[in-house]
Amino acid sequence: MSKKYQMYINGQWVDSSSGEIFDSVNPYNQKIWATIPQATKGDVNQAITAANHSFHKQWKNTSGKERSSLLHNLADIIERNADYMAEIESTDNGKVIRETKHQMMFAARNYRYFAGYADKLQGTVVPMDNPDLFDYTIVEPLGVAALITAWNSPITLLANKLAPALATGNTVVVKPSEHASVSTLEFGKLIEKAGFPAGVVNIITGDGNVGEALTSSPNIQKISFTGGLNTARMISRSASENLTPVTTELGGKSPNIIFEDANLDDAVLGAVAGIFAASGQTCVAGSRLLVQDSIYDKVVDKIVNKASKIKLGNPLIPETEMGPVANRAQFTKITQMINDAISEGAKLLLGKDPIEDESLQEGYFIRPTIFGDVNNSMTIAQEEVFGPVLSIIRFKEEKDAIKIANDSKYGLASGVWTNSVKRAHRMAKNIEAGSVWLNTYRTLGVGAPFGGMKLSGNGRERSWHTLLDYTKVKNVMLDMSDNVRDPFSLKT
Ligand code: NDP
Repeated sequence: MSKKYQMYINGQWVDSSSGEIFDSVNPYNQKIWATIPQATKGDVNQAITAANHSFHKQWKNTSGKERSSLLHNLADIIERNADYMAEIESTDNGKVIRETKHQMMFAARNYRYFAGYADKLQGTVVPMDNPDLFDYTIVEPLGVAALITAWNSPITLLANKLAPALATGNTVVVKPSEHASVSTLEFGKLIEKAGFPAGVVNIITGDGNVGEALTSSPNIQKISFTGGLNTARMISRSASENLTPVTTELGGKSPNIIFEDANLDDAVLGAVAGIFAASGQTCVAGSRLLVQDSIYDKVVDKIVNKASKIKLGNPLIPETEMGPVANRAQFTKITQMINDAISEGAKLLLGKDPIEDESLQEGYFIRPTIFGDVNNSMTIAQEEVFGPVLSIIRFKEEKDAIKIANDSKYGLASGVWTNSVKRAHRMAKNIEAGSVWLNTYRTLGVGAPFGGMKLSGNGRERSWHTLLDYTKVKNVMLDMSDNVRDPFSLKT
């Protein structure tokens, strides 16, 4: 029996005005487990109007203390509901529960972090050359922000955007991916419980057309988007009409680099988890593994061995290490990219064998797949797979590793495994990526800025830097002198 969900607009739970719905499919068994409203353009406009009204009527004038307290309430409620929310998300997108549970607590931590900023947003007094002039700045929210998220981690991705947007006094319209909308709609209930006024947070659902209607609206003042490069380009084009500022958090082809002086057991574990955790469906997946020539055979053997033992299974069981990929489109795309890589000459070291376990036959399972001796110019080394596929590339010296690492249109994340402190910092300086992990991989901390370089995006989230994305600065100047100066000259 599937559960029927509604959208959250102006503090009310509503169906689509057309009555249209679509199914949410559990990727573990392909069963329809929920139905979601397909918003119309009218619904999108209603959500934007509600957010706009709420912004002007009250939210922009709430004190930082009030906003902070509501964000702490929300964090408390998320923590209390973490297990339930994790179960919803794992059912919706197939991500293993051992990770989604952690993600809920991480999201709560993010709300607390920005709750701490809500009452500390302040302008400055600007020193002037002329002592008669008194100049100061006021930090103001932008207005209505459109927050668009991808399906792989809806609640954590939303926290990266919603926490700073609300802390700084903006109202929002949220659109999750049609492939995993349920956890975001459940999250709306937590927003309601936390006590946010009607219209501050609105959640609309549907396909890309709903996103397009939202981002092309002249009545939104900010877009924050997490998703793929092509969608980001479309959004940027439609936003350009209204000059709406856009933050983009996109994909990657991140290099994970193992030097001969590394602790190899740690590095192997980091390489395997770096790509196969979450079935490779993370933006920071270490999908290109660069291994120094002198240790190549040894490391590759260890990695293939370890990856071949990864436990595939039901994502709701805590022992499962890899769940299914999130949906049929993903399954088809990943399978196609694996076949294309073989045709292009990549050497298959692991993968492709049929899944024998009877209980996994209905799920979108793809085995951990490893290609060896990959040339960095191959498509499999250049294009994001967003699946459990690792390309291993040899390098001779440090300078070669840097060249290969940077030979990518993306620049999201990277890893370096070495016991040389000097080399670690040289690499950190030279790699073109928003995040560099030294002797670790896919380790996150609230407060540590996260975002991409090159075509991986232009924003920074989870740190104070993102506050600048949701605020504008107003300058106020007073001439305190009683003397009337020549009004036709430039006053300074
Ligand atoms: P998409 O770009 O396909 O979709 C992202 C969101 O945009 C979805 O909500 C989607 O809706 C919506 N959308 C689609 N078309 C439009 C449009 N024309 N206008 C406005 N919104 C639209 O990405 P995926 O959901 O497939 O996510 C995978 C990508 O996200 C990968 O490239 C991954 O690397 C990246 N990612 C980046 C992260 C980061 O922080 N840097 C983190 C996580 C993922 P719908 O799904 O309903 O079509």
